[in-house]
Amino acid sequence: MSVIHLENYVEDKWQKVSVDPVSIASAVTGEIIAQTSASGLDFKALSDHARTKGGPALRQMTFHERASMIKGLGKAIMERKEALYALNAHSGATRKDGWIDIEGGAGTLFSTASKGKRELPDARILIDGDTEQISRHGTFLGQHVYTPLQGVAVFIDAFNFPVWGMLEKLGPALLAGVPAIVKPATTTAYLTEHCVRIMIESGLLPDGALQLIVGRVGDLLDHLTGQDVISFTGSAETAAKLKSHPRIIAESVRFIAEQDSLNACVLGLDATADSPEFDLFIKETVREMTVKAGQKCTAIRRAFVPAGLLDEAEAALKARLAKITVGDPDMEETRMGPLVSAEQRADVAEKVQTLSEDAAIVFGDTGPVKLNGDKASQDAFISPILLKCETPWQAKYVHNTEAFGPVATLMPYHDVSDAIALCNAGKGSLVMSLFSHDRKIGEDFVLGAGAYHGRIAIINRDCAKESTGHGSPLPVLVHGGPGRAGGGEEMGGVRGVKHYMQRTALQGSPDMLSAITQNWLSGAKIEASSPHPFRLKFGELEIGKTIETASRTITLEDIEHFAEFTGDTFYAHMDEEAASANPFFPGRVAHGYLILSFAAGLFVDAAPGPVLANYGLDSLRFLKPVSPGDSIQVRLTAKNKKKRNEDYGEVRWDVLVTNQDGEPVASYDLLTMNAF
Ligand code: NAP
Repeated sequence: MSVIHLENYVEDKWQKVSVDPVSIASAVTGEIIAQTSASGLDFKALSDHARTKGGPALRQMTFHERASMIKGLGKAIMERKEALYALNAHSGATRKDGWIDIEGGAGTLFSTASKGKRELPDARILIDGDTEQISRHGTFLGQHVYTPLQGVAVFIDAFNFPVWGMLEKLGPALLAGVPAIVKPATTTAYLTEHCVRIMIESGLLPDGALQLIVGRVGDLLDHLTGQDVISFTGSAETAAKLKSHPRIIAESVRFIAEQDSLNACVLGLDATADSPEFDLFIKETVREMTVKAGQKCTAIRRAFVPAGLLDEAEAALKARLAKITVGDPDMEETRMGPLVSAEQRADVAEKVQTLSEDAAIVFGDTGPVKLNGDKASQDAFISPILLKCETPWQAKYVHNTEAFGPVATLMPYHDVSDAIALCNAGKGSLVMSLFSHDRKIGEDFVLGAGAYHGRIAIINRDCAKESTGHGSPLPVLVHGGPGRAGGGEEMGGVRGVKHYMQRTALQGSPDMLSAITQNWLSGAKIEASSPHPFRLKFGELEIGKTIETASRTITLEDIEHFAEFTGDTFYAHMDEEAASANPFFPGRVAHGYLILSFAAGLFVDAAPGPVLANYGLDSLRFLKPVSPGDSIQVRLTAKNKKKRNEDYGEVRWDVLVTNQDGEPVASYDLLTMNAF
């Protein structure tokens, strides 16, 4: 194929740089397939462009508008995914490996968009948590909110997931309202560049929202400010270098690091050689070693088994590894392709050499491999390599040396606390997995190992079929880990969005805070609604619109009728003597559900109209008993609104039920679906 000249996308234009070009070779054939450079770009201008053009445009949009844009980007990628698959094999990835990167990447955008639509408001400010009562009479309240950072998110990414690695960060940053500059690893930048092209050509992104640097970042870091974020994925060594850049320190630039990780898997002490968990452990270890030729930050590097099962586990792992066909990733029978480059192969071989000071190689080697397909050159290929270390506590390297390839070390442990301590000896990882059917072992592991691992997958016969496996970060779960893993955290649904926003504690009157957050707070102005607020369409209804109902007296006959009708003849409603003996009740009292039902009867507007359905209640509290002869009255106030689609949206109503003395007897949020 002809050599692709990769282009930077800066200040809304594609720009080819021919100075100091770097050549990129195909992992399969060793031929040069691309050339790239970013030398001489004006990094100050491009970061200013993001801040002055992209940021303001994104911040004009609501969370829902940004979520729709992100969904559109995912669709655009899916429509043109075959062009990405065509480039994928050059990185050494099989089609299955590429699926994780390409369709997994688009899937991450879809998930981010859907979280944005469901969990964030159709607004620009995000409320964080409940209101804090900080004054005696409730005229001065506290409310935390998030607003978008006014800088740029700089993504510096690793070579192994050139598409997913960008998109898992881009979705949350765009949803937050922050523009991005992407700097992919050079070795696989051709995939990232093509994916950026697809997104730009979709026409969905405002100017300045996305820029791409295909090469070195020059003096970019010298121009970053405290409103910017660096989200780095790669080796600990590079992370340390970037993190300690004087400008990053001086400006307190947020720095998210995802780096190497000595991930562990453990076969539980309850397992036997013929238990389902043993098989699951073997399959998962081999899968993790060989998917993407082990070039996954989450791949299993250390596999621990009860000492009595060491031989059986070794034999089973070897038998399964022997079935792995290595070769041209384009060929259907190939299970594992090459590493990304000849340099990466040399690095893995060197790390295996180091590890073999602690452990014996029991499967594979670093020599030439028998390959499937004649297109392949030997340069970047390596066989899966299993090592065995019988004395893990004496090991100098297995707990701190990452061979970023199809390499894992098998080790024995003696009891649960030994296994936990060995997992934690990696000094912080992205993920660990436990293969156990014993609930106590599960609890012990979470308590003993939780602080050291960003994710813990507990896999057994009950969940294996549906399990997403040890190594898959999911957009709705956090990805990241403490210590050696970088101390960063990404994604986790809306949690990931907040990394690109600032939390601010607001203080002010209920009225002011309600207006700012578009969320009516108790104590804020209310406005009597005429007509009845249930007659107002979603778009017409303003927060604060209220009705106060007539009152209704609750009689003993009402309580008995309700009890017989529903079957709820609990003594507190039916037996005066027993009810009086109860510390909460003065005597027989009305059912809480009777109060709710009568409240609905008081506030409802019965005729067909914009209110389509009662969707449920939140935060229901019964605050004071209602005795026979008491009367109740309801105040219903529109609290906030969330658009669901073009036809209807969710309205949250504040409901306060009071008695004849004005004392609150029940409060809750009522949710309705209202037509536009
Ligand atoms: P790397 O060599 O550290 O490179 C990572 C990124 O940093 C690349 O884009 C690289 O660009 C860039 N870079 C290197 N030096 C730089 C500098 N001085 N200034 C600015 N950027 C610089 O890592 P890698 O070899 O690509 O990736 C493998 C490592 O990443 C493994 O250790 C793996 O565990 C880790 N990883 C971690 C995660 C995670 O989520 N925790 C995910 C994937 C990979 P160039 O390519 O142009 O040098």
